[in-house]
Amino acid sequence: MKILVVEDERRLAGTLRVLLESRGFEVDVVFDGEAGADYAALDIYDLLILDVMLPKLDGFQLAQAVRARHCGVKILMLTAKSDVTDRIAGLNAGADYYLTKPFDTGELLACVNALLRRQGDQVDALTFGNTALDLSTGMLCRGEEHIRLSAREFDVMRFLMQSGGRNRSKEALLTKVWGYDSNATENHVEVYVGFLRKKLAAIGSNVRIEAIRRLGYHLEVGEP
Ligand code: CA
Repeated sequence: MKILVVEDERRLAGTLRVLLESRGFEVDVVFDGEAGADYAALDIYDLLILDVMLPKLDGFQLAQAVRARHCGVKILMLTAKSDVTDRIAGLNAGADYYLTKPFDTGELLACVNALLRRQGDQVDALTFGNTALDLSTGMLCRGEEHIRLSAREFDVMRFLMQSGGRNRSKEALLTKVWGYDSNATENHVEVYVGFLRKKLAAIGSNVRIEAIRRLGYHLEVGEP
């Protein structure tokens, strides 16, 4: 398996290389965000390990650029900041996981193994019609086209896809996605279904979210 490390602290980059190579990974190391983007564009890596503070293009921008292009690759972010807003920024940018510096090597290896094992072992995409929902990245994909879903949109879409073409009541969606205790109402369900319809249209999906009055929603394949 191939890993790309983008880290401008050369000592840490060197340590990561030695560590990962000792575990049988093939490792490439680059020291700035632009080089990182060029290498990532080769599409040959199973995992990208990105520092956040990087010259030229930071780790968030790099993760976003990668996610804008394709669905599969895992991204682990390394950050000196432990601040919650940075974590959220990183996850929104498309990172699968985070480590806050300084981390120990055992922790890093555990993360790398967890991220790579997740790939392939279990179902990592649901499909309906010409469209796939990538469960590890939260991307909705149709051929080369893809769009990122918010956490809530993802949960709604996943539930509908898992249901195949079966109808799901708004109540079931509310319980499944928002939970028993939430203050969310059926309006929330309608709003998120609206978001999802726009996103499906944006990628040219032939999947439609059909509403049956008072009964809820189901997926159908129709005209893109
Ligand atoms: Ca740095």
